Amino acid sequence: MSKILLVHPGLIADDGTYYTIMPMGIVSIGDKLLKDGHEVKILNVALEKKKNKNFSFEEYLENFSPDFVGIDMQWYPYIYDSMLYAEISKRKGAKIILGGFNASIFAKDIIDRFNFIDGVIVGEAEIPFSELVKSGIKEDIPNLVYRDRNGRVVIPSKYINSSEVLDELDFYNFDLIESKDYYLSSTSSTGNYIITNSSYIPKKLYFLFLGRGCYKFCSYCSANVYNFSKFGIKKPVFRSPRVVVQDILRLQNMGVDMLHIEFDPHPFSERFYRELLDEIRWKRFKIDLGINIGFWAGGLPHEDIIKGLAQVFPSKISVIELSPESADQRIRRLNGRGDYSNEDLVDNLLKIKKNGFHACVYFFCGLPFETEKDVNKTIDFAKYLRQKDIGLNLFVPSLEPGSPMWLHPNKYGVKIFRKTFEDFLYHSFCLKIGRFPEHPIGYETNFLSEKKIMELEMEAYSKIYLDLRYIMNRFKHSLKVSDNIYKKIKVSTSILFKNYKGIWEFKKT
Ligand code: SF4
Repeated sequence: MSKILLVHPGLIADDGTYYTIMPMGIVSIGDKLLKDGHEVKILNVALEKKKNKNFSFEEYLENFSPDFVGIDMQWYPYIYDSMLYAEISKRKGAKIILGGFNASIFAKDIIDRFNFIDGVIVGEAEIPFSELVKSGIKEDIPNLVYRDRNGRVVIPSKYINSSEVLDELDFYNFDLIESKDYYLSSTSSTGNYIITNSSYIPKKLYFLFLGRGCYKFCSYCSANVYNFSKFGIKKPVFRSPRVVVQDILRLQNMGVDMLHIEFDPHPFSERFYRELLDEIRWKRFKIDLGINIGFWAGGLPHEDIIKGLAQVFPSKISVIELSPESADQRIRRLNGRGDYSNEDLVDNLLKIKKNGFHACVYFFCGLPFETEKDVNKTIDFAKYLRQKDIGLNLFVPSLEPGSPMWLHPNKYGVKIFRKTFEDFLYHSFCLKIGRFPEHPIGYETNFLSEKKIMELEMEAYSKIYLDLRYIMNRFKHSLKVSDNIYKKIKVSTSILFKNYKGIWEFKKT
């Protein structure tokens, strides 16, 4: 039996910003190793530091004294801490294995340059990690990139989990997580729910695992078909609907009141959702928890799926999110997003609302091929949607390693400011110490400089969100203020607002 520590660094910057949500695979890896007979712990360092600012990773390591330390490098903002904890753990004598999307993308570079990393698992890790602990680092472990005795980087054979293997994995063995209750309570995000237009603030929110893979190539995203194919996942693999329904009921029994569903490899997902809904209806399962489901892969959900979701989940507290990214169909198409008209989008949003759900859309600002005029078109469209009581979210996409615009900057008409693993490592270090990076988003386009993109983002925020009616509506939704009190506050605020505007005009003259 070995002792294994799985570490999620998370992001906790010196300025108090934190991000503690872990990739779901860390629990399924831990559970597989536990079932193999090992002692396993999952440590979310950012969460521990949020809970106790004096938390010491070194002391924790000293006490547990693991034989293997598996470190998550899923997302680039925390790769500096992934490397830092790897180095500390190596000094204590453990074998160090990295995994996650960003580790997979830079696997060869990492093994080539950093001696304290023993191996990087590229792609799916549950079975390779299990075999590695059983028989040590050697050539026939699939997905494992490592250095041989002569210092040469060994490229492994590829392994992917079938649907049947995914069904057997457990993504919800929370007992493995240190501070599990604190973790589960911290995954609910009030801010997010204000933006979705829902008045329901979940007490315990968790994510539902449906499968892995994607078939699209969206300009800004690293979780695209090219990278998944490199890892061996040529098309999306789903868990079976029967197992997913059992998971929903299990999470409901654990007190989870809101499920986040973020796996929608359109159009493959349509069949899956129909089967899932049939399974729930046929067996007459009673489901009380809400859903926040994102149809983000570029398609619009069919009306029968929206209706089906409304039949089995409480739609009043649930949200359906769409992600057009731009108000311009041409920009959407060029960036690999949904090729549908704005009329179809609005029609779909109204169907979502008609079925009792809250509807929310995501836009980006500063996409490849986008001009200032295009961004203004998106802002106007967002304001139009706001009048229809649609929740709005607007971001600037930061440069992701492995994204199409990072892989082919010329094709996308962008200049990228971060190319190598070291570039991203330094950027992650800046985020950690709270230093404003020289290139915050990491790219500029042929039409918009990096500075201009950030200015447009600020402009978009002020035009979309700084609107009295919008703020008052959000205030009403979030605090569940009664209609009568709301009317009184609205009247007095508008008087104040008018006077304030008067004073402002007076000052200007
Ligand atoms: S953003 Fe595009 S590429 Fe990324 S996961 Fe979604 S559909 Fe796939």
